[in-house]
Amino acid sequence: MTDSFRCYQVNKNEQKKISAGLVSAPYNNLPPGAITVRVVYSSVNYKDALAASGHPGVVRKFPHVPGIDAAGYVVESDSDQFQVGDPVVVTSYELGVERWGGWAEFIRVEPEWIVPLPEGLTLKESMILGTAGLTAAMCVDSIIHHHITPDAGNILVTGASGGVGSFCVSLLNQLGYQVTAVSGKHALHQRLLELGATKVIDRLEIDLSSDKPLLKGHWPAAIDTVGGFLLSHVIRSIQPHGCVAACGNAGGAQLDLTVFPFILRGVTLDGIDSAWYPIERRTALWQKLATDWKLPDLESRAKAITLEQVKETVESLLNRTHQERTIIKIS
Ligand code: NDP
Repeated sequence: MTDSFRCYQVNKNEQKKISAGLVSAPYNNLPPGAITVRVVYSSVNYKDALAASGHPGVVRKFPHVPGIDAAGYVVESDSDQFQVGDPVVVTSYELGVERWGGWAEFIRVEPEWIVPLPEGLTLKESMILGTAGLTAAMCVDSIIHHHITPDAGNILVTGASGGVGSFCVSLLNQLGYQVTAVSGKHALHQRLLELGATKVIDRLEIDLSSDKPLLKGHWPAAIDTVGGFLLSHVIRSIQPHGCVAACGNAGGAQLDLTVFPFILRGVTLDGIDSAWYPIERRTALWQKLATDWKLPDLESRAKAITLEQVKETVESLLNRTHQERTIIKIS
């Protein structure tokens, strides 16, 4: 095949100092696995930025290669499920966490983690969506499964300018829902309206001070990417028999609540975990993202960089100044 391959590698030395950068690694160093994929595109997520800085919550073994998303072509297969040349998408499971990830010319993974690239999406489009797009699709799917229909009224989306939040806004809009977006970035309010929000609320103007167990029931449903006080506020503001799909903790991990939203209003809190989402449902959602749910402006929703440019993006993600979804053109 080849003796070596380019990858972005994170190392820790004996003084426990973390270093990271592009290296040429021996091909034999790829982890064991039934399928080898030549990566064409990967993406940059907050979790990757943590991995790239050696964060112990994400990286447990060094050297490590970040990249929870990868799309490319199968080049070696020990499985009947995939043939050499098949275009595929791999997101999450252990990719970029326990297993060397997509910031590399090759990944080696299990067939159970792989989704065939659905017709209707290019490899590039699949990475523009990546874990952020798939997680958004899971959140929207949750709203639909809880019988919240477009005539129910405005669906609230928090962290709306983020990767997951902005895809939620557009997917809901595409499916005929009215969306109220909550965002702390005033400069992006107009952009959120262009992406499909009906209305934008400034996050900093929401009064989170009330500790009442129930607040006025404003929203039939919500998608929350922020967690913490905001999620507590949102759950207490849901109408009877509404639901909240909760996927993130950008604003905190604690949840201060009573049981009253659940037992007096029948509110459902649906936890969203994209990492171990079952492959059958994952494949079905990718299919939707390539057809009925396909966003017309996907190409314009991300900028492409090279592996050489990753360091800068990692820094901007870690210091929270990053604004644009970023994919990596690898080969
Ligand atoms: P981003 O960093 O792109 O967006 C997060 C958004 O949350 C920001 O744009 C901002 O939106 C808002 N935000 C950031 N910090 C705060 C804060 N301190 N208080 C309140 N709001 C804040 O992240 P993603 O969209 O990629 O992911 C969103 C969340 O979902 C993250 O916590 C991520 O870890 C999690 N996630 C979970 C997955 C799962 O499987 N459960 C999969 C993917 C992501 P604004 O300024 O518009 O308010």
